[in-house]
Amino acid sequence: MPELPEVETIRRELRSLILNKKIKDFQVKDSIFLKKPKSKAVWRKNITSKVKDVTRQGKFLIIQLSNGLKVVIHLRMTGQIIYGGDDGAKIKIVFSDSSTLSYYDKRRFGEWYLVKNEKEIPLLCLLGADPTEESFTIDVLSNLLQKRNTKAYDFLLDQRSISGIGNIYVNEILYNAKLSPFRKTREIKADEIEQLYYSIREILNKALKARGSSVDTYLDIWGNPGKYAYQHVVYGKEGEFCAYCPNKIMRGKLSSRSIYFCPGCQQ
Ligand SMILES: [Zn+2]
Repeated sequence: MPELPEVETIRRELRSLILNKKIKDFQVKDSIFLKKPKSKAVWRKNITSKVKDVTRQGKFLIIQLSNGLKVVIHLRMTGQIIYGGDDGAKIKIVFSDSSTLSYYDKRRFGEWYLVKNEKEIPLLCLLGADPTEESFTIDVLSNLLQKRNTKAYDFLLDQRSISGIGNIYVNEILYNAKLSPFRKTREIKADEIEQLYYSIREILNKALKARGSSVDTYLDIWGNPGKYAYQHVVYGKEGEFCAYCPNKIMRGKLSSRSIYFCPGCQQ
Protein backbone atom coordinates (compact mmCIF):
# COMPACT_ATOMS: atom_id res chain seq x y z
CA MET A 1 0.00 0.00 0.00
CA PRO A 2 1.42 3.41 -0.90
CA GLU A 3 2.31 5.31 2.27
CA LEU A 4 3.42 8.90 2.89
CA PRO A 5 6.74 8.71 0.95
CA GLU A 6 5.07 7.17 -2.09
CA VAL A 7 2.07 9.53 -2.13
CA GLU A 8 4.34 12.54 -1.54
CA THR A 9 6.62 11.45 -4.42
CA ILE A 10 3.58 11.31 -6.69
CA ARG A 11 2.30 14.67 -5.42
CA ARG A 12 5.53 16.59 -6.01
CA GLU A 13 5.84 15.50 -9.61
CA LEU A 14 2.17 15.64 -10.36
CA ARG A 15 2.10 19.23 -9.16
CA SER A 16 4.94 20.29 -11.44
CA LEU A 17 3.31 18.53 -14.40
CA ILE A 18 -0.36 19.50 -14.17
CA LEU A 19 -0.37 22.86 -12.36
CA ASN A 20 -2.50 25.39 -14.30
CA LYS A 21 -3.62 22.81 -16.82
CA LYS A 22 -7.32 22.69 -17.63
CA ILE A 23 -9.18 19.42 -17.35
CA LYS A 24 -11.03 18.83 -20.62
CA ASP A 25 -12.40 15.34 -20.19
CA PHE A 26 -12.92 12.70 -17.54
CA GLN A 27 -13.25 9.12 -18.75
CA VAL A 28 -14.40 6.36 -16.41
CA LYS A 29 -14.27 2.66 -17.27
CA ASP A 30 -15.03 1.40 -13.78
CA SER A 31 -17.21 3.58 -11.57
CA ILE A 32 -16.56 1.55 -8.41
CA PHE A 33 -13.84 4.12 -7.60
CA LEU A 34 -16.24 7.09 -7.62
CA LYS A 35 -17.25 7.28 -3.97
CA LYS A 36 -18.70 10.80 -3.95
CA PRO A 37 -20.50 11.74 -6.13
CA LYS A 38 -21.22 8.31 -7.52
CA SER A 39 -22.59 9.58 -10.82
CA LYS A 40 -20.16 9.67 -13.73
CA ALA A 41 -22.18 12.45 -15.33
CA VAL A 42 -21.84 14.71 -12.27
CA TRP A 43 -18.07 14.16 -12.24
CA ARG A 44 -17.78 14.95 -15.95
CA LYS A 45 -19.84 18.10 -15.57
CA ASN A 46 -18.02 19.51 -12.54
CA ILE A 47 -14.41 18.48 -13.03
CA THR A 48 -13.72 20.64 -16.10
CA SER A 49 -11.66 23.31 -14.38
CA LYS A 50 -8.07 24.45 -14.00
CA VAL A 51 -5.65 22.75 -11.58
CA LYS A 52 -4.80 25.29 -8.89
CA ASP A 53 -2.62 23.12 -6.67
CA VAL A 54 -1.81 19.53 -5.76
CA THR A 55 -1.55 18.85 -2.03
CA ARG A 56 -1.47 15.86 0.30
CA GLN A 57 -3.00 15.00 3.65
CA GLY A 58 -1.84 11.71 5.14
CA LYS A 59 -2.11 9.23 2.28
CA PHE A 60 -4.75 11.32 0.47
CA LEU A 61 -3.77 13.13 -2.72
CA ILE A 62 -5.74 16.34 -3.32
CA ILE A 63 -6.04 18.08 -6.69
CA GLN A 64 -7.40 21.57 -5.98
CA LEU A 65 -9.41 23.06 -8.84
CA SER A 66 -9.96 26.74 -9.56
CA ASN A 67 -13.76 26.26 -9.42
CA GLY A 68 -13.36 25.54 -5.68
CA LEU A 69 -13.80 21.78 -5.95
CA LYS A 70 -11.21 19.21 -4.92
CA VAL A 71 -10.43 15.85 -6.47
CA VAL A 72 -9.40 13.69 -3.52
CA ILE A 73 -7.77 10.34 -4.29
CA HIS A 74 -6.78 7.51 -1.93
CA LEU A 75 -4.76 4.79 -3.68
CA ARG A 76 -5.47 2.21 -0.95
CA MET A 77 -3.81 -1.14 -1.80
CA THR A 78 -2.92 -1.09 -5.48
CA GLY A 79 -3.94 2.28 -6.97
CA GLN A 80 -1.50 3.79 -9.49
CA ILE A 81 -1.49 7.20 -11.13
CA ILE A 82 0.56 7.36 -14.31
CA TYR A 83 1.24 10.47 -16.39
CA GLY A 84 0.31 9.41 -19.91
CA GLY A 85 -0.59 5.74 -19.76
CA ASP A 86 -2.53 3.50 -22.11
CA ASP A 87 -6.10 2.47 -22.85
CA GLY A 88 -6.26 -0.05 -20.03
CA ALA A 89 -6.77 2.76 -17.49
CA LYS A 90 -9.81 2.54 -15.18
CA ILE A 91 -10.04 6.34 -15.04
CA LYS A 92 -8.47 8.90 -17.35
CA ILE A 93 -8.16 12.65 -16.92
CA VAL A 94 -7.56 14.46 -20.21
CA PHE A 95 -6.14 18.00 -20.14
CA SER A 96 -6.75 20.68 -22.77
CA ASP A 97 -3.20 20.25 -24.09
CA SER A 98 -4.09 16.56 -24.72
CA SER A 99 -1.79 15.26 -21.96
CA THR A 100 -3.42 12.64 -19.74
CA LEU A 101 -3.38 11.10 -16.27
CA SER A 102 -4.28 7.43 -16.10
CA TYR A 103 -5.50 5.54 -13.04
CA TYR A 104 -4.97 1.81 -12.61
CA ASP A 105 -6.04 -0.36 -9.70
CA LYS A 106 -5.79 -4.15 -9.72
CA ARG A 107 -7.61 -4.82 -6.47
CA ARG A 108 -10.11 -1.97 -6.91
CA PHE A 109 -9.97 -0.58 -3.35
CA GLY A 110 -9.02 2.95 -4.46
CA GLU A 111 -11.27 5.91 -3.69
CA TRP A 112 -12.03 9.06 -5.68
CA TYR A 113 -14.00 12.01 -4.32
CA LEU A 114 -14.99 15.31 -5.90
CA VAL A 115 -15.93 17.61 -3.04
CA LYS A 116 -16.10 21.25 -2.02
CA ASN A 117 -14.72 20.60 1.42
CA GLU A 118 -12.43 17.87 2.75
CA LYS A 119 -14.83 17.59 5.69
CA GLU A 120 -17.17 15.67 3.41
CA ILE A 121 -14.72 12.75 3.66
CA PRO A 122 -14.96 11.36 7.22
CA LEU A 123 -11.56 9.66 7.28
CA LEU A 124 -9.82 12.80 6.07
CA CYS A 125 -11.18 14.90 8.96
CA LEU A 126 -9.80 12.47 11.50
CA LEU A 127 -6.20 12.57 10.24
CA GLY A 128 -3.58 13.28 12.86
CA ALA A 129 -0.22 15.06 12.70
CA ASP A 130 1.87 14.93 9.52
CA PRO A 131 5.25 13.55 10.64
CA THR A 132 7.16 15.38 7.89
CA GLU A 133 5.85 18.82 8.88
CA GLU A 134 7.93 21.24 10.96
CA SER A 135 5.09 21.42 13.47
CA PHE A 136 5.64 17.74 14.31
CA THR A 137 8.02 17.99 17.26
CA ILE A 138 9.22 15.66 20.02
CA ASP A 139 6.67 17.30 22.35
CA VAL A 140 3.86 16.65 19.89
CA LEU A 141 4.87 12.99 19.64
CA SER A 142 5.18 12.73 23.41
CA ASN A 143 1.67 14.14 23.93
CA LEU A 144 0.17 11.83 21.33
CA LEU A 145 1.80 8.80 22.99
CA GLN A 146 0.34 9.83 26.35
CA LYS A 147 -3.14 10.22 24.90
CA ARG A 148 -3.35 6.68 23.56
CA ASN A 149 -3.08 3.54 25.62
CA THR A 150 -2.03 1.04 22.99
CA LYS A 151 0.97 -0.82 21.55
CA ALA A 152 3.69 1.17 19.78
CA TYR A 153 2.96 -0.64 16.51
CA ASP A 154 -0.78 0.12 16.60
CA PHE A 155 -0.09 3.71 17.64
CA LEU A 156 2.14 4.44 14.64
CA LEU A 157 -0.33 2.83 12.26
CA ASP A 158 -3.31 4.77 13.62
CA GLN A 159 -3.96 7.60 11.14
CA ARG A 160 -5.78 9.59 13.85
CA SER A 161 -2.53 10.09 15.79
CA ILE A 162 0.08 10.38 13.05
CA SER A 163 -0.95 10.31 9.41
CA GLY A 164 0.78 8.65 6.48
CA ILE A 165 2.65 5.77 8.11
CA GLY A 166 1.65 2.25 7.06
CA ASN A 167 2.87 -1.29 7.57
CA ILE A 168 6.21 -1.03 5.77
CA TYR A 169 7.47 2.11 7.50
CA VAL A 170 6.13 1.27 10.93
CA ASN A 171 8.35 -1.84 10.95
CA GLU A 172 11.40 0.07 9.69
CA ILE A 173 10.84 2.93 12.16
CA LEU A 174 10.45 0.72 15.24
CA TYR A 175 13.54 -1.32 14.31
CA ASN A 176 15.55 1.85 13.77
CA ALA A 177 14.37 3.15 17.15
CA LYS A 178 15.12 -0.25 18.78
CA LEU A 179 11.62 -0.18 20.22
CA SER A 180 9.43 -3.27 20.52
CA PRO A 181 6.19 -3.14 18.49
CA PHE A 182 4.47 -4.50 21.61
CA ARG A 183 5.57 -1.68 23.95
CA LYS A 184 2.74 0.21 25.60
CA THR A 185 2.72 3.85 24.47
CA ARG A 186 2.46 5.25 28.00
CA GLU A 187 5.47 3.23 29.14
CA ILE A 188 7.85 4.63 26.54
CA LYS A 189 10.48 6.73 28.33
CA ALA A 190 11.61 10.24 27.38
CA ASP A 191 14.92 9.17 25.79
CA GLU A 192 13.10 6.47 23.81
CA ILE A 193 10.50 8.99 22.61
CA GLU A 194 13.33 11.18 21.37
CA GLN A 195 14.88 8.25 19.51
CA LEU A 196 11.49 7.24 18.08
CA TYR A 197 11.00 10.79 16.85
CA TYR A 198 14.34 10.86 15.03
CA SER A 199 13.68 7.41 13.57
CA ILE A 200 10.31 8.55 12.18
CA ARG A 201 11.96 11.57 10.56
CA GLU A 202 14.99 9.66 9.28
CA ILE A 203 13.16 6.70 7.76
CA LEU A 204 10.52 8.85 6.05
CA ASN A 205 13.14 11.25 4.68
CA LYS A 206 15.31 8.44 3.35
CA ALA A 207 12.27 6.82 1.76
CA LEU A 208 11.30 10.12 0.15
CA LYS A 209 14.80 10.54 -1.24
CA ALA A 210 14.63 7.04 -2.71
CA ARG A 211 11.20 7.87 -4.20
CA GLY A 212 9.35 5.36 -2.03
CA SER A 213 9.24 1.59 -1.72
CA SER A 214 7.98 -0.70 -4.46
CA VAL A 215 7.10 -3.87 -2.58
CA ASP A 216 3.81 -4.69 -4.21
CA THR A 217 2.53 -2.57 -7.06
CA TYR A 218 3.64 0.97 -6.28
CA LEU A 219 4.99 2.96 -9.24
CA ASP A 220 5.72 6.67 -9.56
CA ILE A 221 3.84 8.75 -12.12
CA TRP A 222 6.37 7.78 -14.81
CA GLY A 223 5.64 4.11 -14.14
CA ASN A 224 8.99 3.54 -12.43
CA PRO A 225 9.40 1.69 -9.11
CA GLY A 226 10.69 3.48 -5.99
CA LYS A 227 14.08 2.37 -4.73
CA TYR A 228 13.67 2.37 -0.97
CA ALA A 229 12.78 -1.35 -0.82
CA TYR A 230 16.50 -2.02 -1.39
CA GLN A 231 17.19 -0.20 1.87
CA HIS A 232 14.63 -2.08 3.97
CA VAL A 233 16.43 -3.67 6.90
CA VAL A 234 13.59 -5.44 8.69
CA TYR A 235 10.40 -5.42 6.60
CA GLY A 236 10.15 -8.79 4.82
CA LYS A 237 13.52 -9.90 6.28
CA GLU A 238 12.28 -12.80 8.42
CA GLY A 239 15.09 -15.25 9.24
CA GLU A 240 17.90 -12.88 8.28
CA PHE A 241 20.47 -11.84 10.86
CA CYS A 242 19.90 -8.55 12.69
CA ALA A 243 22.36 -5.82 11.75
CA TYR A 244 23.00 -4.91 15.41
CA CYS A 245 22.92 -8.17 17.43
CA PRO A 246 23.29 -11.97 16.99
CA ASN A 247 19.51 -12.56 16.75
CA LYS A 248 17.49 -13.24 13.64
CA ILE A 249 14.61 -11.07 12.46
CA MET A 250 11.27 -12.56 13.51
CA ARG A 251 7.91 -12.37 11.87
CA GLY A 252 4.84 -12.10 14.06
CA LYS A 253 1.20 -11.11 13.86
CA LEU A 254 -0.29 -8.00 15.38
CA SER A 255 -3.73 -6.56 14.63
CA SER A 256 -4.00 -9.12 11.80
CA ARG A 257 -0.88 -7.80 10.05
CA SER A 258 2.57 -9.31 9.63
CA ILE A 259 5.13 -7.55 11.75
CA TYR A 260 8.92 -7.88 11.52
CA PHE A 261 11.22 -7.18 14.44
CA CYS A 262 14.40 -8.22 16.22
CA PRO A 263 13.61 -9.95 19.53
CA GLY A 264 17.10 -9.02 20.77
CA CYS A 265 17.47 -5.31 20.34
CA GLN A 266 13.87 -4.08 20.16
CA GLN A 267 12.80 -3.75 23.78
ZN1 LIG B 1 18.93 -7.18 16.93
